Amino acid sequence: MSLLDRFEQAFMPNYGVPPVALARGEGTRVWDVDGKEYLDFIAGIAVSSLGHAHPALVEAVSRQVATLAHTSNLFVHEPEVLLAEKLLGLLGAPARVFLANSGTEANEAAYKLALTYGRREGRSYFVAAENGFHGRTIGALSLTGKKSIRDQFGPFPVDVRFVPYGDAEALRRAVTGDCIAVFLEPTQGEAGVVPPPEGYLRAAREICDATGALLVADEIQSAIGRTGHWFAHQADGFVPDLLTLAKGLGGGLPIGACVGFGAAGTLFGKGDHGSTFGGNPVSCAAALAVLDNLDLDHVNAVAPRLRSGLESAAHPLLKGVRGRGLWLAAVLTEPRAAEVQRAAAGAGFLVNAVQPDAVRIAPPLVVTADEIDALVTAFPKILEEAAQ
Ligand SMILES: *Cc1c(COP(=O)(O)O)cnc(C)c1O
Repeated sequence: MSLLDRFEQAFMPNYGVPPVALARGEGTRVWDVDGKEYLDFIAGIAVSSLGHAHPALVEAVSRQVATLAHTSNLFVHEPEVLLAEKLLGLLGAPARVFLANSGTEANEAAYKLALTYGRREGRSYFVAAENGFHGRTIGALSLTGKKSIRDQFGPFPVDVRFVPYGDAEALRRAVTGDCIAVFLEPTQGEAGVVPPPEGYLRAAREICDATGALLVADEIQSAIGRTGHWFAHQADGFVPDLLTLAKGLGGGLPIGACVGFGAAGTLFGKGDHGSTFGGNPVSCAAALAVLDNLDLDHVNAVAPRLRSGLESAAHPLLKGVRGRGLWLAAVLTEPRAAEVQRAAAGAGFLVNAVQPDAVRIAPPLVVTADEIDALVTAFPKILEEAAQ
């Protein structure tokens, strides 16, 4: 029996059966269990920021697992302190960090911080964006504006009001002095890598300042160099009250973080929140290796090549390319993203049909110009095959 068949027998059906079984990777290249080679242009959903098997990540994780793999939060360890200090240094503003294991848990921390604030201030509801994605646990799911994954698990314990993403006037109408917090992605990832109109996030900041609502930036997918900046909000000219991180932070090791700026950093009292594995030494060592080895100049040097190269395909199936940095979507004129994903895999490229009409492209941040050229060269034929 093939590995895919055994997967189907052993696992719950929530993922379906993924089309490829991967065995190993090196840089931007990965190999499946049959030895077929691919160039990885999805990086485990914008996670493998240093690529696969990066020597610095391998060394840091190996050294840490052989030294001290776990302490729980009953004890302090140096990698977590170094990581929090490093994040605060990159953020350059007074803030405090909570470490979790995943994106949804980072958002649960933000959600509980916001609830703490809401209760203290007598505020009653949240605002989030339609088509936004914040995670699968019940708190984060209640903020997720995608009916197909949300509605079957409701009703939720908290009032969340959804507004169209990118519409500052709709946000202004929805946020009153009764609003606890506004949760927004600086660019919507799962919705299909959708950046907001210029000025939207600064307007959100201003609306939250005027009403006293907390502004939560979910940068779980957008941070750690993905857009060419350490943090997406740095390019948009605003500072959130709460910031959540995960995907690219650990370079493949599971870690999430919730950062609280200013007064939002001290909303939790002792005993208010915790996680046995959160901030475990191995994941912190991995995150430190990522932060020490990422080259943002490289990201900014190669990103325009990827974007303009994809745009130059000039195929009738291609409507355009949107996104920021090494985080793009090829938007199609017809809902054939699944066909593009399949044709790309056949040609040796891993991409992701993030929406029926949008193909997400998010390579490791170490992707080379030659690897980009390989995808760009193959792209017209991939589109042609998908259009058939
Ligand atoms: C992936 C993602 C999450 C959830 O992260 P998990 O690690 O899968 O729980 C939350 N928010 C955004 C914006 C994401 O892209």
